[in-house]
Amino acid sequence: MTTATDKVNLLGLTQPQLESFFESIGEKRFRAGQVMKWIHHFGIDDFDAMSNLGKALKEKLKAAAEIRGPEIVSEDISRDGTRKWVIRVASGSCVETVYIPQNGRGTLCVSSQAGCALDCSFCSTGKQGFNSNLTAAEVIGQVWIANKSFGSVPAKIDRAITNVVMMGMGEPLLNFDNVVAAMRIMMDDLGYGISKRKVTLSTSGVVPMIEELAKQIDVSLALSLHAPNDELRNELVPINRKYPLAMLLDACQRYIGQLGEKRVLTIEYTLLKDVNDLPEHALQMIELLRNVPCKINLIPFNPFPHSGYERPSKNATRRFQELLQQAGFNVTVRTTRGDDIDAACGQLVGQVMDRTRRSQRYIAVRQLDGAETVTPLQG
Ligand code: SAH
Ligand code: SF4
Repeated sequence: MTTATDKVNLLGLTQPQLESFFESIGEKRFRAGQVMKWIHHFGIDDFDAMSNLGKALKEKLKAAAEIRGPEIVSEDISRDGTRKWVIRVASGSCVETVYIPQNGRGTLCVSSQAGCALDCSFCSTGKQGFNSNLTAAEVIGQVWIANKSFGSVPAKIDRAITNVVMMGMGEPLLNFDNVVAAMRIMMDDLGYGISKRKVTLSTSGVVPMIEELAKQIDVSLALSLHAPNDELRNELVPINRKYPLAMLLDACQRYIGQLGEKRVLTIEYTLLKDVNDLPEHALQMIELLRNVPCKINLIPFNPFPHSGYERPSKNATRRFQELLQQAGFNVTVRTTRGDDIDAACGQLVGQVMDRTRRSQRYIAVRQLDGAETVTPLQG
């Protein structure tokens, strides 16, 4: 296991931060660009391999800094080409990163937290409880690891990672500064040069942070809606009790409005059999989203043990999609990818050392079920 040191980890620094770092050690700011290219374009973590730096500078850097990616615990490749990495972060918990190749695109699904405190009722990450925020280096480190695994080449035209979605474990807006820094590196030409349209942050609806995001960055936004009315959403996505739908959609619309250039909000809607997948829900959704520039992505529920939910039939899914399409919405159904390696949406569990005791409550419920006997964790 790699252990933390006192050295500055350059992996998680944005270009301005890296420039300040070089200034702080009495060097010229332009060094930042050179070092960023080595780190992110070439996947280099050894200062000695940076051929355009002099010997004295290399020694100075070795004394003050390091380039340390997260530790890879495992890498799996699915039958359909999906890849999944389990990585260990500084807190000792493990999180997951998933790469999904599809139609000439390569989408990397990145985690922002070890676990999640928001406890959506159908999400296995939520059931793990919460341990820690990832550092900026651990967030961008997932892109770094994936890029290296494809043999990173600068400005490669058929680059393997074309899109990044902050849809892995955790609520990205509750780890705001680190996620924003990592997204800046994703979009920086000295980093990964991914266009702002192709970096997407997905949120379950932390309204004040959506407002803050609008002030800082212009990435694409996805909203995890999952219910067309407050009563049901309060049950499925508990943060809705704090920031109800009207307030949430208003914040999202303002975010999208500021982006201009015909950008739209992505609405994610996990379909749960007989819970939120009935025609009445589709009709309520049509009303709710009537004036929201959006595209809708339906995600048939991906089951995990003891979730208490089921995936709707293909027919029910199609019926729901058609009702929305007939009302003029652009609606896609997310195909399940990588489920043979547990890499599908909502199946990411990592190995979270829960600090919220939620996983204990969950285990207790499982015991009441009589389904499984697990000794509750102490602590
Ligand atoms: N916390 C953020 C991002 C991570 S979750 C958010 O909630 O938006 C990424 C997406 O997967 C969300 O839309 C989430 O609701 C969905 N999801 C969670 N569990 C799921 C499951 N079991 N099946 C299908 N989708 C799920
Ligand atoms: Fe957290 Fe998103 Fe899962 Fe909700 S769906 S518990 S916000 S990771």
